[in-house]
Amino acid sequence: MTNRYAVIGNPISHSKSPQIHMAFARQTDQDMQYEALLAPLDGFQSAVNAFRLQGGSGMNVTVPFKQEAYQLATDLTERARIAGAVNTFKFENDRILGDNTDGAGLVKDITVNLKTPITNKSILLMGAGGAARGVILPLLEQQPAGLVIANRTPHKAQILQQQFAAFGRITAREYLALSGESFDIIINATSASLNDALPELPPGIFTHDTLAYDMMYSIEPTRFLNYAAQQGAQQLADGIGMLVEQAAESFYLWRGIRPETQNIIANLKKSDA
Ligand code: NDP
Repeated sequence: MTNRYAVIGNPISHSKSPQIHMAFARQTDQDMQYEALLAPLDGFQSAVNAFRLQGGSGMNVTVPFKQEAYQLATDLTERARIAGAVNTFKFENDRILGDNTDGAGLVKDITVNLKTPITNKSILLMGAGGAARGVILPLLEQQPAGLVIANRTPHKAQILQQQFAAFGRITAREYLALSGESFDIIINATSASLNDALPELPPGIFTHDTLAYDMMYSIEPTRFLNYAAQQGAQQLADGIGMLVEQAAESFYLWRGIRPETQNIIANLKKSDA
């Protein structure tokens, strides 16, 4: 029987998840369908339940529903529970297992695809929304020298600092208070790039060796990546690799098979070029 999966969000038409999962399915010979579902902003729960009742086996959840998905899950993996956000559902009879694969996807993209170790490195994480929340624990598990989290609304970064303090060296700081410091890896987990905006950053935080990573992806380099290049950073990456790797991790949860990701990342980069 063909198993059905979907990505749910609002907006959703831009999503590359159907393309990625169908490529995984062809590659691993899985009998499955994967579609994109637009849920009304006030209708997430009923859209998920309707999909389950129609025989859906699992879902990916994207902006802005990851925290609602956390509430809806009946069971949580450890990483989803600690993140407080869910991007993957697996439906099992009347249970809804919630997982969060964003952090594993980011870490795999940085350490394996981009060949940049995180252990003992200094990291700046910009943003304190759903995406930031999902990646903090997996980043800390790599035992960086330190993780600094900065956000436009500073108290949200402070809350995350308190929440994750037990898992590693994490501090919260305001953007302009970063003056005088530099970082090995700077990750933009804000949605500022969506509006071609950039948080105000003090000069000097990028060095030649800094990896500048924007979780957002687009045809043109984002404002953040252009700024990082102007500041001298030579290693620049957008979020395509993370997108494919988090999808591979969801696929593994559903199908028990790890798809090969390199060719799919390369093809998506080519089709965006
Ligand atoms: P949220 O809406 O939950 O959070 C948005 C964050 O961005 C907040 O910290 C917000 O700060 C900050 N922000 C927004 N606009 C600005 C601005 N103009 N200046 C400074 N800070 C700003 O979004 P998500 O965390 O879910 O997503 C963040 C980004 O990550 C999106 O671009 C998304 O597409 C991308 N993403 C990519 C993935 C991938 O696989 N590549 C996976 C998940 C997300 P404040 O708290 O002050 O409002």
